[in-house]
Amino acid sequence: AKVLVSGANGFIAVWVVKDLLDQGYAVRGTVRVASKGTHLLNLFKKEEENGMFELVVVPDITASGAFDDAVKGVDAIAHTASPFHFNADEPKDLINPAVEGTVGILESAMKYAGPQLKRIAVTSSCAAMLDLAAKGAFNEHNWNENSVIEVREKGRDASQSAKYFASKVLAEKAAWNFIEINKSEISWDLTTLNPPFAFLHEVASPGALNSSVALFYETFITKRIKPAELEMIKFGWVDVRDVSRGHVLALEVPSASGERFILSGGPFILQDWYDALNKSKISGVEAPVSAPSTEKVFQRNMYFDNMKAQAVLGIVFRDNSVTARDSVQDMRKRGWLS
Ligand code: NDP
Repeated sequence: AKVLVSGANGFIAVWVVKDLLDQGYAVRGTVRVASKGTHLLNLFKKEEENGMFELVVVPDITASGAFDDAVKGVDAIAHTASPFHFNADEPKDLINPAVEGTVGILESAMKYAGPQLKRIAVTSSCAAMLDLAAKGAFNEHNWNENSVIEVREKGRDASQSAKYFASKVLAEKAAWNFIEINKSEISWDLTTLNPPFAFLHEVASPGALNSSVALFYETFITKRIKPAELEMIKFGWVDVRDVSRGHVLALEVPSASGERFILSGGPFILQDWYDALNKSKISGVEAPVSAPSTEKVFQRNMYFDNMKAQAVLGIVFRDNSVTARDSVQDMRKRGWLS
């Protein structure tokens, strides 16, 4: 069976591609420019030579019919391509590619994929479930309405997190809406995956880190980000290997049809990672043994419930000491630690 992975060069997508290939699937990945695929072609050289891995260029995912060719003949699709950064001027800089890219790939799939297509998994986010002022336990019934309202009211003056969060809410809602409107015409179904911050990585240099791993690196390794500055830190975390596993299972498990899945390893406060780093006993990484207690009390108020992913997809989420150890070991291997 062949799976199309959009944005195949992205941090999460590389792991999804790797997992799919490891499970024996053929993969067709999309990138915006051919040069972004070089790393992938090196990583998956053997599979490319065996005809199990190919790349196609989709220059602009917002263009009409952008994915018309890419979807042809695939059995499943993982749509991960979407901007993930906190530097947007206008909300539409994030929202348009997120929404139009998602609706565009669904539309192309409906028209041109062919009858063998069974399922599309869209990478959404826990950001589509809550805003940063939220507290409590969150599950797949929750939707982040506040970030959309903030962006609607404040436009370019909305917070960076609200702009990104709104792009994820609106893209995921657009996907479910597309299925609802077109259900009589389509023979495939949709699953969405909603991870919080995904850690661990696979890139060549710190400058190339995606937003979530950059956060890990700048907070724990270079310490350029100070805890007090870190609005985003009160969130959930997940090992990216569990995110990619979740994507593969979401394409395979029949009862994942029509469902959203939180893919979260757990909530975190800074001290949890300091403790995990200390526990992993990696020299050169010094973490404080105790962060301010107020931080703990405040941030423990928020929790993403991962029971559904455990029960339906059968995922066993990794412990943060494993993720911390493997991340730092990898950064050391690349010479990023002193
Ligand atoms: P990356 O930034 O590593 O990858 C993003 C991918 O999307 C790249 O392939 C990128 O292409 C592509 N992309 C970004 N903007 C556009 C655009 N305007 N038009 C076309 N393609 C674009 O991010 P992640 O791997 O971290 O994120 C992948 C997905 O996972 C996103 O949907 C993100 O919202 C979601 N997510 C990520 C989390 C995390 O912690 N990492 C947590 C929750 C959800 P290019 O390289 O050419 O820019």
